[in-house]
Amino acid sequence: MSEFALIDWLRQRERPREGAWTKLGIGDDCAILRANPDTDLLVTTDMLMDGRHFRLEQDGPRAVGYKALGVNLSDIAAMAGVPRAAVVAVALPQAAASEIAHGLYAGMRELADRFCVDLVGGDTNAWDGPLVISVTLLGEATARGTVRRGGAKPGDAILVTGPLGGSLFAGRHLRPQPRIAEALALHEAAPLHALIDISDGLSSDLGHILAESGGLGAVLDAAAIPIHPDAHEMSRHDETTALDHALNDGEDFELCVVVADDDAARLLAAPPAPAMLRRVGIVTEVPGLRLRSLDGRERPIEPMGFDHFRTAKHPPWT
Ligand code: ADP
Ligand code: MG
Repeated sequence: MSEFALIDWLRQRERPREGAWTKLGIGDDCAILRANPDTDLLVTTDMLMDGRHFRLEQDGPRAVGYKALGVNLSDIAAMAGVPRAAVVAVALPQAAASEIAHGLYAGMRELADRFCVDLVGGDTNAWDGPLVISVTLLGEATARGTVRRGGAKPGDAILVTGPLGGSLFAGRHLRPQPRIAEALALHEAAPLHALIDISDGLSSDLGHILAESGGLGAVLDAAAIPIHPDAHEMSRHDETTALDHALNDGEDFELCVVVADDDAARLLAAPPAPAMLRRVGIVTEVPGLRLRSLDGRERPIEPMGFDHFRTAKHPPWT
């Protein structure tokens, strides 16, 4: 069973009560709770573990704190929401508990200040085990509402907000730049049909949009996919092409945005600041992901992004 098969199973089991608080439960980047008739409350949580998402000894606690809040901010961006408050639960290695905690909170403070988030609670534990940190972030929808994964339509354009791939190469996976301002500016400038942050890799995360949109497909244009310099560097050290790194590596934390084709043309001609935009492909009625190469030929590709159940070992750290 894959990580996503388990999540699907949970989603079937845990259906929200009708007419209750829950407007959207399991299955998107955040849950949406109807706190009162005028406000949609966004909730998201992400846990990071030493040896899986970071290496404490090498990266230091400050970088871990930064990443822990950053990945959650990215999920609020993925709903076009505004982050408001966080609670933080930690399992600290006993031997250096307070020193590590100080570092974690210094790292979180940097992003909390930048995005005006209050740290309003949490839970502190120490044990004879590795560092684990779990952040739960609450946010708010704007008057324009949220943008979910499930609104893509055949013929829509697929855009990304920055270069992809190789985030592990030089530690960029530790420094997510949450695209909150970009998401809000784009949402203001055009009706966004679907939105997700690229945490598991473009092929997988676009796959989530297509699945949630009723089983659509997409054609990605190989020449148009912005490849990060880190992906080129990484491909010189392994057997994987830079393009495959861009398609399948995770933790870029750029946004994948789906909009009507004419809106895409308008957005690309004058991207609303501070968003940068590249058009990478088109949504199709025909299901499945296909890659169009320079010679115009199309071949099917599989979503090969990160899956916690499939990847037994951590990806190669540098
Ligand atoms: P993201 O990469 O955006 O954080 P995930 O792939 O972790 O998203 O999760 C997808 C959806 O599944 C989200 O709605 C998340 O809240 C839900 N989910 C993931 N794990 C669990 C779990 N153990 N119990 C309930 N819901 C879960
Ligand atoms: Mg997400």
